[in-house]
Amino acid sequence: MADYLYTLETRLSPDQQKAVTLVLDAARAAGMNLYLTGGAVRDIITGFPIRDLDFTVQGNALKLQKDLERAGAVVGDADDETRTLLLTLPGGVRAEIAMARSERYDKPGKPPQIAPSTIIEDLRRRDFTVNAMALSLNEGSRGLLLDPFNGAADIELKVIRVLHNYAFLDDPSRLIRATRFATRFHWPLEERTQARYESGKENGYIEYIRSSSIGYEIEQLAYEEDPHGVLKAYEKEGWLKVLNPRWSTAKVDTAGLGALMKTRQQMNELGYTPEVAPLVLYFLTERLGEKDISDLRRAIPRKDLVEAWKDLDSNARSLAKRLTGKEAATPSRTWQLLSAARPEMILFLAITARQQAVAQKIKNFFTKWRQVQQKIPLPEMTELHITPQMPAYPKIANDVFLLLLDGKLRSRTETLKFLKPLAPPPPPPPPPPSGKRGRGAKAAAAAAAAASGKLGAKGKGKVAAAPAAPVAPAEVKQQVKQKDKPALAAKPVVPAKPVTAAKPAKPAAVKTSRPAKASAVKKPGKRAKTAKSAGKTKAKAKAKAKPKHKKKGK
Ligand code: ATP
Ligand code: MG
Repeated sequence: MADYLYTLETRLSPDQQKAVTLVLDAARAAGMNLYLTGGAVRDIITGFPIRDLDFTVQGNALKLQKDLERAGAVVGDADDETRTLLLTLPGGVRAEIAMARSERYDKPGKPPQIAPSTIIEDLRRRDFTVNAMALSLNEGSRGLLLDPFNGAADIELKVIRVLHNYAFLDDPSRLIRATRFATRFHWPLEERTQARYESGKENGYIEYIRSSSIGYEIEQLAYEEDPHGVLKAYEKEGWLKVLNPRWSTAKVDTAGLGALMKTRQQMNELGYTPEVAPLVLYFLTERLGEKDISDLRRAIPRKDLVEAWKDLDSNARSLAKRLTGKEAATPSRTWQLLSAARPEMILFLAITARQQAVAQKIKNFFTKWRQVQQKIPLPEMTELHITPQMPAYPKIANDVFLLLLDGKLRSRTETLKFLKPLAPPPPPPPPPPSGKRGRGAKAAAAAAAAASGKLGAKGKGKVAAAPAAPVAPAEVKQQVKQKDKPALAAKPVVPAKPVTAAKPAKPAAVKTSRPAKASAVKKPGKRAKTAKSAGKTKAKAKAKAKPKHKKKGK
C-alpha cells in the first residue's frame, strides 16, 4: 500500500498537505479515525486536479469545529443532520469533513434514516464506484486503500457506475451528479447505469430531489473547470430547470465567463491563485433576475461563498474608485494599491471595469510595470553587499523598484548613486594570526586568510574561500506562491537574473513575462547556505585558536 502513501504525498499541493495534517491533528486529538474519501481519492488515483478534500471521520465531525477554527479554518456550513462540516482551510483549501454514516432509504423522495457507522458501511451510501473509496490517514494503516466496490477498476475502465439498482431512485440528485462527472471526465455511464439513468429520467425521479441537494449541486457548479460545458449538459438533460426554473444557457454571460477563465490562467502563470468560484456564479447567472439570484444564493450551503458572490459588485466598485483617485495617482502608488488588493477582485475588475483608466492600470500592473524589475541592478547591488541577508534589503529593493516605476531613477548611474549610501559597512578585518605552530596553526592562518580573500598562491585550493555569491532576493518566493493573502504585499518582485523582454500584452489580458521560476528561487538558499558554512569555518578556526592563547597566558 506504500504506493498510495507516495501518491498521496506527491499529488497534494503543499497547502493541501498542510490541510491534511491539520485535520489529522484535530481528529487525533478527538480520538477519531480519519479517512480521505470521495473525489479526493478518485482524483489522487486518476491524476485529475484535486479540487477539494473530502474527509470522513468515524465519530461526530462537528466536534472538530472549534479546534479547526483555532487553526485558521473558516466554517462555511455545519450540518447537524449528517454531522458534516464544510470548511475553507488555510491556503484556501476547500474541505468537507463528514461523519461516517449509513443511510437507509425507506421511501423515494423521503430523506434517508441516518446512523453513525464504520467507514466501510459509509462507503456503501456513496453515489458511484469511483467515488466510493477511502484512503486511511491513520497510524498503522496510512495509505491503505479501502475499495469495496472496485472503484479503482472503474477508473481504469473510465466509466461511471452506480453501486446498486436503486441509486437514482434513492437520491435523484445522483442523476445530476452523473451528468456532471460524465461531462467533466468525458467518461460514459456504464451500460447498466446508463439504462437506470434513462429510466430514472423517463419516470421523473428528479421531482423527488431534496432541496438541500439542489443547493449542493448549484454550489458544485462554481468549482467546475468548465462550468459552461456542465451547464449546457444540464440544460440538455433537463436538470438546469431543476436547479432554477428560469435558468438557461441564455442567462449566462458567455463572454465574461470565457474572459474569466482565460485571465485566471494568465494570473496563475504569474503565481496568483484567485478564488474564482464567486465570479463563476456571477457570470453563470448574469442575466437572471434578482429574485432568481437570491433564490440560488439561499439554496447554497456554503455561506462564505454566497457572501463573496454578493459582495463582488460593491468591492469592485470601491477598488475602481480607489484606482481612479489620489491613492493611485502615480504608478508606484497604484502598484502598492493593487499589490494589497485581493487577486480575485483584480481579476473581476480586469473583466468588468468600464472605465478605461482602471482597465489600463490593471493591465500595466500585470505587464509593463513588472518589466521594470529588470532594471534593478542586482550584480551591482551584490558588489555593494546589498544582498537579501541584509535586514534592510526588502525595503531598499522596494524603494528602488518604486522609484524606477515612477521614472525617478532614470539611468543605471542614478540608481547606483541612490544605492551607494545604503550599502552596509565593509566586513571586519580577519583576526590576527594565532601564533600557533605546526599544521594546526597553518590551517588556522590559511582559513583566516581565505576568509579575508588574501589567499597566497601556496594556499590556493587548500581552503575553500567564501565568495560573496550573488544572491537572488527572497521576495521572488512570494510571487511564486500566492494564496488568499494580499497579492504582492506591496513588494517588488526582483528577478534573480534579467528575464527576456515580455511579449506585448493583448488588450484586457494580463499576459506578461513570467516571473523568476521556482528553480531560480531555490538557488539563493543554496548559495546563502554556502556563505553561512564558510562563516562557520571561520568561527571554528577562531574557536580553536582561543584556548591556546589562554594557555599561554597562564
Ligand atoms: P468533486 O470533484 O466535484 O468534489 P466529489 O466526488 O468529491 O467530486 P463531492 O460533491 O465533493 O463530490 O462529494 C464528496 C463525496 O460524497 C462524493 O465523492 C461521494 O462519495 C459522496 N456524495 C456526494 N453526494 C452524494 C450523493 N448524492 N449520493 C451519494 N454520495 C454522495
Ligand atoms: Mg469533492
